[in-house]
Amino acid sequence: MVFAKRIDHLKAYKTETSPAKVKLSSNELPYDLPEELKAKIKEEIAKIPFNRYPDPYATELREILAKLWKVKPENIILGNGSDELIFYLAIAIGENYEAIAYPIPTFPMYRVVADTLGRPVYEVPLNEDLDLDESRFAEILENYKPALMFISYPNNPTGNLFSKEKLNRLRKLVSLMVSDEAYYDFSGESYIEKALDPSENIVVLRTLSKIGLASLRVGALIADENFIKELFKVKLPFNITYPSQVIAKVVLTEGLDFIKWAVKQVISERERLLKELQKMEGIKVFPSKANFFLFKTPFDADTVHKKLLEKGVLIRNVSYLPGLEGCLRVNIGKPEENNIFLETLERVLRELKSSKR
Ligand code: PMP
Repeated sequence: MVFAKRIDHLKAYKTETSPAKVKLSSNELPYDLPEELKAKIKEEIAKIPFNRYPDPYATELREILAKLWKVKPENIILGNGSDELIFYLAIAIGENYEAIAYPIPTFPMYRVVADTLGRPVYEVPLNEDLDLDESRFAEILENYKPALMFISYPNNPTGNLFSKEKLNRLRKLVSLMVSDEAYYDFSGESYIEKALDPSENIVVLRTLSKIGLASLRVGALIADENFIKELFKVKLPFNITYPSQVIAKVVLTEGLDFIKWAVKQVISERERLLKELQKMEGIKVFPSKANFFLFKTPFDADTVHKKLLEKGVLIRNVSYLPGLEGCLRVNIGKPEENNIFLETLERVLRELKSSKR
């Protein structure tokens, strides 16, 4: 084969694409953009010179994001989704033989990029509370000196924010901590101020994917200016397409009220759903600061997942992940979708209970 050996044992990334009436499996925003905003986008798209390459610096979009996040445009580099920025970090930080560490279960892309590049990884299982196992993590950081530590904050798929005290102690033991804040809009907790300070060792990842623009593929890394300058050396020049730049600009200026409304709606539905699920017999719900949450059923998770799908509700089966036996992940939908999910889950649990008797 012409491929490198390390590619041999990799598997292409799979996501659940089964068609379903209610899709609550990919942590997307349940609301599409309002029609007026789409009309404005149509107008702006028509003005694009399609024969031209896009601005490699995405200057105007970075200016808009900088204002929103109260940083300077020089503190931002954009990626084709934050996935691409995770890749750039794994390419650029430390030597290839130096490891990457992260807690598990977490966002699978940290492992995917490390494996693709042939970098060693240290995966540290979360403790029973789904928080960081501080002593085990510290031991790894001190003994094996990984170049980079990824922290999903809040963590996907568990939905919780790890203890800030633990993180503050652990990050002193590593060269660089990446605070992946894909779900920041639903948690309100951030390391962005620390990321701007060159004497600290933190960079922050954000994305537009969870606030209604997953189709565009725009992610951002926020750091001190010199860090950003270095990372620009590995960035593919035209990674943010012209249409993505144009659409993101329209939505982040004229659509801000819509985004704020939608995020608020999701947060309030999250609290309602958590309460409703807590009332269901046999269900254990895990608290969440994201736009999704985990729950555990007393029945086989594969069966619950399959039965929900048969009845038109697609959620994510995460029961194969370490420490998550019996667990499923569901993202917050529109109120009517959430009601369908609740009713369908109740039906499935009732069916399984009666077939057990
Ligand atoms: N980080 C985390 C923690 C995520 O859950 C996701 C998306 N599921 C991403 C990054 C990637 O987001 P993007 O769409 O910006 O590539």
